[in-house]
Amino acid sequence: MTEQSGTKKKNHLTSWIIGSIALAIPVALLFPTFATSFHVLGEIFLRLLKMMVAPLVVTSVMSGILGLGDVRKLGRPGGYAVLYYLTTTILAVFVGLIMVNLIQPGMGAVDQAALDKVAEGAGPLAKGAQEAGIGMIFNNLLLMMFTDNLITSAAETQLLPLIVFSIIFAGMLTTMGERVRALTTMIDQVNEAFISFILLLMKVAPLGIFSLVAARFGKAQLEGKFMETIAQSGYYMLTVISGLSVHAFITLPLILWFFTRRNPLTLISQMSQALLTAFSTASSSATLPVTMECAITKAGVSKRSTDFVLPLGATINMDGTALYEAAAAIFIAQAIGMELTFVQQMTVAVTATLAAIGAAGIPEAGLVTMVIVLNAVGIPTEYIGLILAVDWLLDRFRTTVNVFGDSVGAAVIDTVFESENNRSEGSS
Ligand code: ASP
Repeated sequence: MTEQSGTKKKNHLTSWIIGSIALAIPVALLFPTFATSFHVLGEIFLRLLKMMVAPLVVTSVMSGILGLGDVRKLGRPGGYAVLYYLTTTILAVFVGLIMVNLIQPGMGAVDQAALDKVAEGAGPLAKGAQEAGIGMIFNNLLLMMFTDNLITSAAETQLLPLIVFSIIFAGMLTTMGERVRALTTMIDQVNEAFISFILLLMKVAPLGIFSLVAARFGKAQLEGKFMETIAQSGYYMLTVISGLSVHAFITLPLILWFFTRRNPLTLISQMSQALLTAFSTASSSATLPVTMECAITKAGVSKRSTDFVLPLGATINMDGTALYEAAAAIFIAQAIGMELTFVQQMTVAVTATLAAIGAAGIPEAGLVTMVIVLNAVGIPTEYIGLILAVDWLLDRFRTTVNVFGDSVGAAVIDTVFESENNRSEGSS
């Protein structure tokens, strides 16, 4: 197959995916019972993607590091990747804080019962508890990076320890030279084979995505909650979505342009399949195979950068989630009439960053780690109910931004790899 007909085919697939979403929504609104019957098909598609996540993460991180040749070369791109993840996550959190303070979606309401609970928790111990909370989060984060059982971690899709193991193990292999030649070749080939398998799965993506969207929208319609919850939480959604838009259409494009001189709109269109998959699956991890495929074959990011930045990014780089964690926590505080001091808002910023790093790349993971943020500033966690109804929808938007943030990261770190190449060529 020529490259051109390959590209044509992939654009064709994107149109099918957009078409399937455009069809799924009216079907769900008009025939909700029929639409929910697609639940099983959608679940099968999701499982097919998810079953590949742990094996693919291991082989791709390993083959990424094996591709570096000398483990000491990892130093610079590795450091820049971590710097990129942290900077963009923190920028996203601040966008979230600014938006929620500007729009004030929860203002006006005062819930005295909630405020009494806040006051109860705000004794002299409250500050100490906050500090212990942050310390504990750091400790937990460190512990999350290591496992006492690789098989259990793989079975539970805990990607962080798998990534740490893969980096160390593959790094060690690069120092063993000829003795492990067969093994390193095999890891590369297994990785290639997994990617081909993903391509095969993508052939049924339009059907899978139609099923997922139809079933979810159909369920909301059946419960009669679709319009009602959307209207109720309209302002809150507007806040989070405008924040996400600022990050996706201003912050990330500026970073991309500054470091790579790439046109952000072109990158968005090249990554469109991955972004749409992210929107329909609400899972960065399930989307990872597609993200990697698009980054390499469509956006022309080197395999080395893709293999290194994307699997790690899908787990720890979640700009959209961080933004949402900060905005949602402050929305809840506003909605119960609790005024947050500057220090408390900064505490929200720090914990939202960590909560996003700790969230797994699966649907609603951010909602679970929100508890970390709420606890840190003493907002009673039961008020999470205020944001629950629309979370499945916001989850899709933030996951899309998470995946876009990873894609920009892969392109940016690619330039570090390139300059590394040029330097070593220049010095040889
Ligand atoms: N669903 C998100 C993701 O997979 C995580 C979250 O819940 O924010 O990227």
